[in-house]
Amino acid sequence: NQRTKIKALLQTTPIDAKVTVMGWVRTFRNNQFIALNDGSTNLNLQIVVPLGMLGEDILKRITTGASLKIAGTIAKSVGKGQTIELLAENVEILGDCDAEKYPLQPKKHSLEFLREIAHLRFRTNTFGTVFRIRHALAFAIHQFFNERGFIYLHTPIITASDAEGAGEMFRVTTLPFDGTPRNEDGSVNFKEDFFGKSTNLTVSGQLEGELGAMAFSEIYTFGPTFRAENSNTTRHLAEFWMIEPEMAFCDLEDNMNLAEEFIQYIIQYVMKNNADDLAFLDQRLAEEEKQKPANERSEMGLIEKLNFVVNNRFERITYTEAIQILLDSPAYKKKKFKYEVSWGIDMQSEHERYLVEKHFKKPVIVTNYPADIKAFYMRLNDGCEPGKQTVAAMDILAPGIGEIVGGSQREERLEKLLQRMENMHIPVEEMNWYLDTRRFGTVPHAGFGLGFERMVQFVTGMTNIRDVIPFARTPKNCNF
Ligand code: ATP
Ligand code: MG
Ligand code: MG
Ligand code: MG
Repeated sequence: NQRTKIKALLQTTPIDAKVTVMGWVRTFRNNQFIALNDGSTNLNLQIVVPLGMLGEDILKRITTGASLKIAGTIAKSVGKGQTIELLAENVEILGDCDAEKYPLQPKKHSLEFLREIAHLRFRTNTFGTVFRIRHALAFAIHQFFNERGFIYLHTPIITASDAEGAGEMFRVTTLPFDGTPRNEDGSVNFKEDFFGKSTNLTVSGQLEGELGAMAFSEIYTFGPTFRAENSNTTRHLAEFWMIEPEMAFCDLEDNMNLAEEFIQYIIQYVMKNNADDLAFLDQRLAEEEKQKPANERSEMGLIEKLNFVVNNRFERITYTEAIQILLDSPAYKKKKFKYEVSWGIDMQSEHERYLVEKHFKKPVIVTNYPADIKAFYMRLNDGCEPGKQTVAAMDILAPGIGEIVGGSQREERLEKLLQRMENMHIPVEEMNWYLDTRRFGTVPHAGFGLGFERMVQFVTGMTNIRDVIPFARTPKNCNF
């Protein structure tokens, strides 16, 4: 007998069909009703066990967490909350679960508690839902770029370039595999390098991505990136995934248009394909909001927010305008900001969130940041006021999070780029591979990086980034 997934059964409702399902018990009531979940959907399949069919010894073993194989016939359900149920004809226990020791009880656990048992949290409705949506977003991302003819270029994880300046890096070391990797004093005998060369885990695939764009016109990379963020915020991880498209023959405006279209596309994909999962999170969030004091509640529900974002253009303002809005804000006048506000600052999340949540109440694209706070490869804007040199950069800020995208038009003019690198003390000799793109057939080009986890946060409404990646890597989270 072939196994049928619960999601498929609930979608097709094949009344009278003989099927076999496998999954884990969520609850077992009255020695008769099993709620079975197989992870294909947050909805459980109700299994009805005819009274007297199973002996005491088996009934005792049907506990929350136990895994079962059940064959039976699909029937219309008379109970509330489900359209069909499975009338069991044969129940087989695949794996027992000691109810006394099983940490997941059939009740609502706090996210903090579940973070401590992260190895089991996939089995809860909340995390099952979050990671199904994460999957759907990843799929939609590939589909979006594939439909537009972008080449998926795999940029390296281990890199020798350290010039990006995006954050602190993890150094690669070598552990000799000789069975006794220990010094005499017992310390681990690793070599501080990659076969004689100093290398790091990548902080971004952009520079390598530019090489691809200069050949394929349009590429994207989507892989893990690493930053030694020794801070505990709700939006930073030490290991996170980034989507980085890079486009030749493209300026800042085209770049912003693509980023906006891209974000709307992947949200729409999830709204269409994961409606049941979103409905669950919408409900979950609504309950959470009810616990908050009225003035702290968000104005929109999750689905309402996503609908709004796909149907409305993002606000576009310059960095200079953003700073002015902050300086004019009641929050600034009442000294509500922890960090200073003045032209030249790297905006903090409190500033970004003020702009999107309080001022514009929608996603905002901020352009033309001061050159001094941005990376060397961003294109210098012409005709700036003295002392106010800006670059053709753009960040997309989202409600609840702040920055989700960082992008720019790249400096394609070799002389300007060399000058900027010199000013920033970036060793040119090590970057010849990169500079060759400017030496040989340079073209205007642009790209951006979207933090995948921040996008998942936005779509799921989860407030902590640790809760949207299956295995979070932060200073306090690397237990397995
Ligand atoms: P932030 O200001 O939040 O530290 P950043 O400006 O350092 O971000 P970029 O170098 O612009 O980040 O990287 C591009 C995108 O990658 C960011 O817009 C964000 O979505 C994501 N990102 C950056 N750092 C992290 C991190 N530590 N954890 C998760 N996502 C991140
Ligand atoms: Mg950073
Ligand atoms: Mg930033
Ligand atoms: Mg940035």
